[in-house]
Amino acid sequence: MTLRHVEPSPTLAINEHCARLDAEGRTVHRFGFGESPFSPPARVRAALQEAAPRVDYAPVRGMAELRALVRDFHATVDGIDLDDRRILVGSGSKILLLNTLLAFERACVVLPQPSWVSYAPQVALAGHELRLLPTTFEQRWRVDPDALDATLAAVPADVEKVLVLDHPGNPDGLAYTAAELEALGSVLGRHGAWALSDEIYGLVHHTGAHVSMARAYPERTLVTGGLSKWCGAGGWRLGIQFAAPEVPLEMIETLSAIAAATYSCAPTPVQHAACAAYRLDDETTTHLGRQREVLAAVAGQVGAAIGGTDIRVHPGEGGFYLFLDFSSMRGRLAGRGITTDLELCTALLEEAGVALLPGSAFLMDPAALTARLAYVDFDGDAVLSDLTAGASAGDAAAGDVATVVARHTTHLSTGTTALVDWSGT
Ligand code: PLP
Repeated sequence: MTLRHVEPSPTLAINEHCARLDAEGRTVHRFGFGESPFSPPARVRAALQEAAPRVDYAPVRGMAELRALVRDFHATVDGIDLDDRRILVGSGSKILLLNTLLAFERACVVLPQPSWVSYAPQVALAGHELRLLPTTFEQRWRVDPDALDATLAAVPADVEKVLVLDHPGNPDGLAYTAAELEALGSVLGRHGAWALSDEIYGLVHHTGAHVSMARAYPERTLVTGGLSKWCGAGGWRLGIQFAAPEVPLEMIETLSAIAAATYSCAPTPVQHAACAAYRLDDETTTHLGRQREVLAAVAGQVGAAIGGTDIRVHPGEGGFYLFLDFSSMRGRLAGRGITTDLELCTALLEEAGVALLPGSAFLMDPAALTARLAYVDFDGDAVLSDLTAGASAGDAAAGDVATVVARHTTHLSTGTTALVDWSGT
C-alpha cells in the first residue's frame, strides 16, 4: 500500500495521554483542548430541533435566506460591502479552507509560525508548496510586512501566492490592528497574492474590536468563519465564507464547483438553525457581548497569574488561547533534560497534571519551547446564567463579571497554580 502520510492531530494525542492519567486517578488540568465553553443560544437550539425533519439537500452555496443573513451580519459587524454572490455556506470552515487551497492549481502558501494545526496538512493535501514565516514573542507573533515581502519576492512569478492568516489567533490569542492589516495588505497587493483570512474567532475578540482582512485588502481576501466558536456549535459543522465585491466571481464559482464535488451542502437543519444565529438583533448582540466579557475576564485571570513567572505571555485579546514562551527558562529546563516543547509538555503533564499543546504542533521550532494554553475548561452557560440572574436582581456584586467568573473557574485557577508552581521548581 502506498498511502499518503498525514500527521495525526496533536490534540488527539494529548487527550489520550490525559485519559490515561484520568484512569490512574490523577488530577488533570485540561488546558489542551479548545472548544467553546458556551452552548448555542436557546432560540438557535430550538430552530435546529424544529428543522430536524428537513432531510432535503440545500443548495451547494447555502440556503438563500441564510446567505442573505450572513451578508447583512458580516457587512454590519465588519463594516464592509458584501453581496450574496460572494457568500458561501459549507459544512464547517475547515473544509472551506481546504477547498480554497484546492481552488489553486499550483500555489505557494505562506504560513506564519505559529499557525493553526490544520493548515500545513491542508497545504500538503492540496499539493502546494509551503513557505514558513517565523515570528517572535517580541513581535507579538505578528507577521512582519518586510519579512512577508521578502518571502513573496522569492516565489516564481507564475505561481499563485497565498498567505493564510488566523486572527484573533489560534494558538496566540492575539489580534491584528487595522494598520497592521493594511501594511500586510499593501505587500500582498504588490505581489498579487491572496489572503486566506481565518476569522473563526473574530466575533469573540474580547473587546469586539476585530478588523476583517477583507476591509484592509478587499481585492484578494477570502474570509472564513462560522458557528463553531462564537455560537458554541463546532459539532454542527456550519462554516461561512465571504469576499468583498472586488474579488472576481470566477473564484467563487470555482469554490462552488469544488463544494459540489466534496460536501454538497452544509446540513440542512443546521442551516435553519444558523438563520436564527445570524439574526443580528439585541439578543445576539447581548449574547456576544457577555461571552466576550467572560472570556476577557478568564484570560485576564490566567494571564495575570502566569505574568509573575519566568513564562512569557502576551495578554489574550481574543478567542480561547494564550501562547506561552518558556525560553527564558531554557537553562533550568535543560538541566532537567528538557530541550524540546514536547519534552516540556510531557513533563508538565506527568509532574504537574497540566495539559498544554506543544508549540511544534503549530509549526514552531521544538527548541523554541512554546506551548498553547486553552482557558475554556469551565461551564460558560453557568457563568452566563449567574450574570443574567445577578443583573436582573439588580445586585452589583452578583452581576460583576470578574467575581462570577472567579466562582466558576476554581479548577482553572488550581491548574494555573500548578503550572506556576512547576515553572518555579
Ligand atoms: N480555524 C481555527 C483557527 C480553528 O481553531 C478551528 C477549530 O478549532 C477551525 C478553523 C475549524 O473551525 P470549523 O469548526 O468551522 O471547521
